[in-house]
Amino acid sequence: MPAHKFRGPGEPAPRSRRPTFGATATDLRENELAWDFSTDPEFQEKLDWALRFVEREIYPLETLELDHEEFRRVIAPLQEQVRGQGLWATHLPPDLGGQGYGQVKLGLLHECLGRSELAPPVFGVHAPDTGNSELIAIAGTAAQKRRWMDPLLSNEMWSAYSMTEEGTGSDPTQFTTTAVLDGDEWVLNGTKYCVGNAERSDFHIVMCVTEPAAERHRRTSMLIVPTDRDGIEMRRLGLMHDPSGVGPVHNHSEVTYRDVRVPAENLLGGRGEAFSLAQARLGPGRIHHCMRWVGVCRRAFDMLCERAVSKSVHGSALSEKQTIQNWVAESAAAVESMRLLTLFAAWKIDVAGAKDARTEIAMIKYHGAPVMHDVLDRAIQTHGALGFSADLPLEQMYRWARASRLYDGPDEVHKVAVARRILRDYEPHDVPSEHVPTRREAALHRRAEATRQAPTG
Ligand SMILES: Cc1cc2nc3c(=O)[nH]c(=O)nc-3n(C[C@H](O)[C@H](O)[C@H](O)COP(=O)(O)OP(=O)(O)OC[C@H]3O[C@@H](n4cnc5c(N)ncnc54)[C@H](O)[C@@H]3O)c2cc1C
Repeated sequence: MPAHKFRGPGEPAPRSRRPTFGATATDLRENELAWDFSTDPEFQEKLDWALRFVEREIYPLETLELDHEEFRRVIAPLQEQVRGQGLWATHLPPDLGGQGYGQVKLGLLHECLGRSELAPPVFGVHAPDTGNSELIAIAGTAAQKRRWMDPLLSNEMWSAYSMTEEGTGSDPTQFTTTAVLDGDEWVLNGTKYCVGNAERSDFHIVMCVTEPAAERHRRTSMLIVPTDRDGIEMRRLGLMHDPSGVGPVHNHSEVTYRDVRVPAENLLGGRGEAFSLAQARLGPGRIHHCMRWVGVCRRAFDMLCERAVSKSVHGSALSEKQTIQNWVAESAAAVESMRLLTLFAAWKIDVAGAKDARTEIAMIKYHGAPVMHDVLDRAIQTHGALGFSADLPLEQMYRWARASRLYDGPDEVHKVAVARRILRDYEPHDVPSEHVPTRREAALHRRAEATRQAPTG
């Protein structure tokens, strides 16, 4: 199978250069055609079960006005059923009680769960707990794993990831929250913004400056901060998808840490390692976000199509009007391309590791978020005023989807990173390498040479 390669402006013919994205020969097992779009039947059965379960057991919960505590009580028996199917906390490797599925299978599962915002906690794979448990698994000491990770995995605890500072979230090198070691305690000071589940969690993982004099990517560390420590103040934020901030799953806060003291052993990983740990945390998490967006798209798309064949105005069914047909056709292709790109990124993590897949991981975010927006927007439009009303779930899905262009880093930042990596492989040329007069001159010269050398007679 040919490797995907960019042809640089300086190259009239493909030349060997390190491809910046796409499958490379080293990704593939030698002499093996590794493309395979099928799902193994045993796992497909699990996916079918998950989808049915989400539709039958979780969709109805969306129509009730549950607060967080009620929600946790109501989902407890559902979580047991998920455990019974072996689908609980599937993001973990086998040694931590997970299934060792790998990112492609996890992606497919998240496609089912994405259909309802309430589904991930029922399956033990809700953000930020998944990322936080992975962080502690990667960087935690044995004692930290026992104290913080195990209860997180068994759902006895919830956690928050406290990183963003208002206005600099996309540039962690500018963070100003500090922690200073005072004897055997860290003393934490600063304010974080938009921290999910801050007030509902048992502990926060806080990214803070501990090495102010170090190189800019080595200045920050991560601390595990129990939420009940003195000196933590929280201001609940209303967000676009939940202006009251009392929704069952996500609520967000501005958190101020004022002389908050935590034991020295609550440092997660080494001093100055927060930046690299944050990178490790975001890779697989983004695959799961994007596959959940595919699930959102599928649900909205089903609603769009159902309405198209159900409603007639101005003499014909909506499904017979070309604009609606265009929306159906374009949405189907866009969702499929987003799905394949995301699964490709997942596959690349599985075969080559998250570091080698970072370009694809960034691409799926800025490619997928606008696809989800457009599909939701068309579904709303097809339903007219009903689509805009709270009589359908579309308006809520639409408001929540808007966040996707911001969380996990704004799309613009990912585009910059991808473009930089791609452009690194190109060299400047005074004359474009495809310049036809120049190539014609070279071709004529070559032909004259060949004629001169040809045997006569
Ligand atoms: C629903 C939701 C949940 C969140 N949950 C959490 C959480 O649990 N914990 C947490 O710590 N944070 C959380 N965040 C915060 C999120 O991580 C930040 O909003 C995000 O990283 C952007 O940071 P910022 O808001 O400070 O924007 P800024 O960094 O100020 O960026 C603002 C805008 O500037 C532009 N921009 C920035 N950099 C570039 C660039 N290099 N090139 C071009 N344009 C650029 C972009 O358009 C960007 O949207 C959440 C956000 C949302 C919306």
